[in-house]
Amino acid sequence: MHALSVAELSVALRERRVSSEELTRLFLSRIARLNGRLNALVTVDEERALASARAADRRLARREAGPLTGIPIAHKDLFCARGWRTTCGSRMLADFVAPYDAHIVERLEAAGTVHVGKANMDEFAMGSSNENSYFGPVRNPWDAARVPGGSSGGSAAAVAARLVPAATGSDTGGSIRQPAALTGICGIKPTYGAVSRYGMVAYASSLDQAGVFAHSAEDLALLLTAMAGFDPRDATSVERAPEDYGRALNAPIAGLRIGVPRQYLGDGVSPDVARAVRGALDTLTGLGARVVEVSLPNQRLAVPAYYVIAPAEASSNLSRFDGVRYGHRAEGAADLASLYRRSRSEGLGPEVQRRILIGTYVLSHGYYDAYYRQAQKVRRLVADDFARAFEQCDVIAGPTTPTVAFPIGRPGTDPVQMYLEDLFTIPVNLAGLPGVSIPCGAGEAGLPVGLQLIGRAWDEAKLLGVAHAYQQSTDWHRRAPPEEP
Ligand code: GLN
Repeated sequence: MHALSVAELSVALRERRVSSEELTRLFLSRIARLNGRLNALVTVDEERALASARAADRRLARREAGPLTGIPIAHKDLFCARGWRTTCGSRMLADFVAPYDAHIVERLEAAGTVHVGKANMDEFAMGSSNENSYFGPVRNPWDAARVPGGSSGGSAAAVAARLVPAATGSDTGGSIRQPAALTGICGIKPTYGAVSRYGMVAYASSLDQAGVFAHSAEDLALLLTAMAGFDPRDATSVERAPEDYGRALNAPIAGLRIGVPRQYLGDGVSPDVARAVRGALDTLTGLGARVVEVSLPNQRLAVPAYYVIAPAEASSNLSRFDGVRYGHRAEGAADLASLYRRSRSEGLGPEVQRRILIGTYVLSHGYYDAYYRQAQKVRRLVADDFARAFEQCDVIAGPTTPTVAFPIGRPGTDPVQMYLEDLFTIPVNLAGLPGVSIPCGAGEAGLPVGLQLIGRAWDEAKLLGVAHAYQQSTDWHRRAPPEEP
């Protein structure tokens, strides 16, 4: 039962083959057995989960259930959920209890999902390995000595290990797609503005976008349909009619033009990943799609531009953590300046402090033009590259990550090497486009490889259609990591 997709569980619930309470107990027992080793979830609330499971069962009995009623899920620990800690993986917020629900928490609750708890993450969503969490690293269910990716590594590991059938995440530069790829599951980062950021702790507001992890494109469509939609409480939420993101799941892909950027299968991609991605492209060609080569010439500028823009926004967003209004407060500070300094030095980890320093520097008078303004120009070039490529193709495909999951504590990892993890995902955030990662093969040591599909703005349904077509004729998405005895 735990291996089923959300769509399959939904049918089982509605046919009364299982109750939501039984299902929730099943996943809670898997959490009790496996989470200690994985460290994927940092808050688990059995009582509340079971209460909402029973409420879901009542709706199911009254035949008032929607497709998500009674499905257990977890939230990345940067979405506020009333009454639960929202830690952002940081000492700064280790004891912060949210007084309200994030928009997506509200929406998913209204859709009847059962919220079991909160998932570990890199501190303030900064990282690609989940080694930056105050609560310790998350382990990859495929190999506990390896990272699950980041920053939504706890969500991804929890779904991959079937501690929950689905989980929310956020993606600023790859934090949904990269961990989905490294743990062998599916993840979607929607178009910027599709899902409200209300109640999601901000990292880099012009790039942050909420999304979701699950085991199939069909599941992503169900969840995204519940999460997305206009919210006046987020000024960048786009006012559009509600969509059914599953509407194109069965659209034929014959004749579809798949653009493969020259830059995405060359240097910088390990051979095992390239091989798996080429295999996936062959499968899609076999289904009638046509592969065309496209070029994204400014891609190599995307990572450097991102590491100016994201820290700049982070330095501003994180200034609210001052020891006065939220979170950790240093004891016995002599004056206000030392209260700020000490609270922030104690409460924020080294990577977060590094980004605040970089961000403050690039925004400072005298360096703004040299760094920040230049980075904004590069952002435009990257977006223009995509616009030109989409004149020749309908979707873009390539690897999600340069390599499979790497070891925890990889020796010699400097911050810049870690930043290159997001080589293929960051450009998509800079351009505000939707991106999906789906498992497409096994690389080194049998570890999962992710195929990234990138669309024009608001083309989520099309991307999910391509992913679904692929999953109808392959079973990479059904492979599960080995269970420990
Ligand atoms: N790894 C990237 C970073 O550290 C992206 C993180 C994210 O998408 N939240 O900024």
